[in-house]
Amino acid sequence: MAALGWDECDVILITGDAYIDHPSFGMALVGRMLEAHGFRVGILSQPDWQSAEPFRALGKPRLYFGITAGNMDSLVNRYTSDRKIRSDDAYTPNAEPGKRPDRAVTVYAQRAREAYPGTTIVIGSIEASLRRIAHYDYWSDKVRRSVLPDSKADILLFGNAERALVALTHRLAGGEPIDAIRDLRGTAFMVKPGWRPSEQWQEIDSLALDRPGRIDTHADPYAMEASAAAPKPAADGAQPVRIVPPAARLAARRADRAHSVIRLPSYEQVKGDAVLYAHASRVFHLESNPGNARAMVQCHGEGPGARDVWINPPPIPLTTPEMDFVFDRPYARAPHPTYGSARIPAWDMIKFSINIMRGCFGGCTFCSITEHEGRIIQSRSHASIINEIEEIRDKSPDFKGHITDLGGPTANMYRMACKSKAIEENCRRLSCVYPGICENLNTDHSSLIELYRKARAVPGIKRITIGSGLRYDLAVRSPEYVKELVTHHVSGLLKIAPEHTEENTLSKMMKPGIGAYEEFRQMFEKFSAQAGKKQHLVPYFIAAHPGTTDEDMLNLALWLKKYNFRLDQVQTFLPTPMALATTMYHSRKNPLKKVSADSEGVETARSGKVRKLHKAFLRWHDPENWPTLREGLIHMGRGDLIGNGPHCLVPRQQPARVLAAGAPASAAAARRPAVDKRPVGAPPARKGCNSAPKRASTKGR
Ligand code: SF4
Repeated sequence: MAALGWDECDVILITGDAYIDHPSFGMALVGRMLEAHGFRVGILSQPDWQSAEPFRALGKPRLYFGITAGNMDSLVNRYTSDRKIRSDDAYTPNAEPGKRPDRAVTVYAQRAREAYPGTTIVIGSIEASLRRIAHYDYWSDKVRRSVLPDSKADILLFGNAERALVALTHRLAGGEPIDAIRDLRGTAFMVKPGWRPSEQWQEIDSLALDRPGRIDTHADPYAMEASAAAPKPAADGAQPVRIVPPAARLAARRADRAHSVIRLPSYEQVKGDAVLYAHASRVFHLESNPGNARAMVQCHGEGPGARDVWINPPPIPLTTPEMDFVFDRPYARAPHPTYGSARIPAWDMIKFSINIMRGCFGGCTFCSITEHEGRIIQSRSHASIINEIEEIRDKSPDFKGHITDLGGPTANMYRMACKSKAIEENCRRLSCVYPGICENLNTDHSSLIELYRKARAVPGIKRITIGSGLRYDLAVRSPEYVKELVTHHVSGLLKIAPEHTEENTLSKMMKPGIGAYEEFRQMFEKFSAQAGKKQHLVPYFIAAHPGTTDEDMLNLALWLKKYNFRLDQVQTFLPTPMALATTMYHSRKNPLKKVSADSEGVETARSGKVRKLHKAFLRWHDPENWPTLREGLIHMGRGDLIGNGPHCLVPRQQPARVLAAGAPASAAAARRPAVDKRPVGAPPARKGCNSAPKRASTKGR
């Protein structure tokens, strides 16, 4: 601060991550945005939370402390899907674990308040964003309050918050008190029960809203054109039909929606009633389109201490020039120099990758990206992206010419959007691609193809690979895109996420059927052969997703065996805060449909034993899983799949070396043969199920 000639900071940002000045790290992005608006920004990275003293390191901020857990929810960061503590932290120098507290937003907010009582506290990031209403918390296995009452923050900014943050900071700098700033989109705060911004506002009970047969009445953007003049009443007093111009009806409806707040069941109600929890989750997700979302309110507490959590509608997506402004800031593109030569895995992973867009309209129920970034795609311009490639080339000392990603939440949604702004603003669907690709969705890949070609032509760039996941159901709409991708941007393996093969599960995930995967696979193999390349798809699957039965997992395992997939990396469903699949996990109800006590139930693997069995099906080839699978198959009445015949999933006998794995001296050696090092998707060394997989060459099919 002394070097900068500052006597104080306007804003002090606190983060649970190491500080890396790169637009993939939220704190850097927010700091650079505020700096561009003339504010003096200090950053406290991974402060020791055991006392308030480290929170005084930069003094008291003139305007506020801005607090985040970092790029991830602190509990997702620290614990596995089996609730075990991870041994490392990718966002910390040398991957050292334990550098941030659990529920970091709450802990940091309390310490900052303790350091400087009365200071304004603003919270944000994915942890605050996805815990803004009462939510099921997998790690404590209970419904928790909104993070607002726990942190006692003055305001919460959710989603990508640049717009709200800049406006908030200017207004605070202009002398407006924090509790007078109640009109910013993308913000949430605590108010007294019954508070309204003005008399104009009406409250709607969510239970009245989510009634059978329909969710709500929406404006019809295709309504017929109106006559220019309003008709006069007939002489006999009869009233003629009056056609209201569509624009006027839309404006009236918008005005209504702009002054409506939906009251969700209270924290106390959803905590004790799984059906009400599922109902609240459903209503919450239906109010996610910035074009028509209404404010929501949820009471926390009872009696005189009760308070409402008020949630304004989500932020308006950034335009392309605004996205460019955010990404074109003068980032150092490096970790803070105080880390010296320490390795930060998250930085190693993204330092040569480029984020070309935000948002996702897929709506996969196990993922919270849509809840955080929204489903309207926000894309950067070609010029801004090419400029970043040149920056990496010119300023990164260890860059060797390989750009490791041109992506985002979904690599091939770049520039995709609804064909009509009016339709988009009135749309209430949770996904543009489920149950099928919406006829209003523009799936044109030409701008992305053009971007790839421009990027390859940048002098000094030797290779560009696409590391982000793809929507293959969209990709097959453009064989030219698949050809471009396969010919130039795959380095042997391409990650792809069917997530499951069974309709029962896919319908709960809101994912396309496995037929779309097959269509993509055929295109992938055809264009790989044309390019003279031996390349493989790496499919990802989720075990124990809500809606998945033991039979579904068995069918998936048989599909994997049929296509000779021996997966190294598999994942078990992790119920993250606010995801729709988490609602299924907790409530055993399907919030994709109207929820009632009698509505569709969702079978969910919750016990460790069943989750372990489901995971074992994904690694059916691993001898260490065979005892679990044998037990499971017998329990399912499918003992016919145990044995040495070609139709069997697991052999009857355990390999000798795995049997000996319990002996300490031989444990490591015993495990070795069970690990298949070949590329995923490559054929097994030996077909059939009468022996353990053999170590094989890397020769693919
Ligand atoms: S493409 Fe279809 S689902 Fe997506 S916003 Fe437009 S109308 Fe809605």
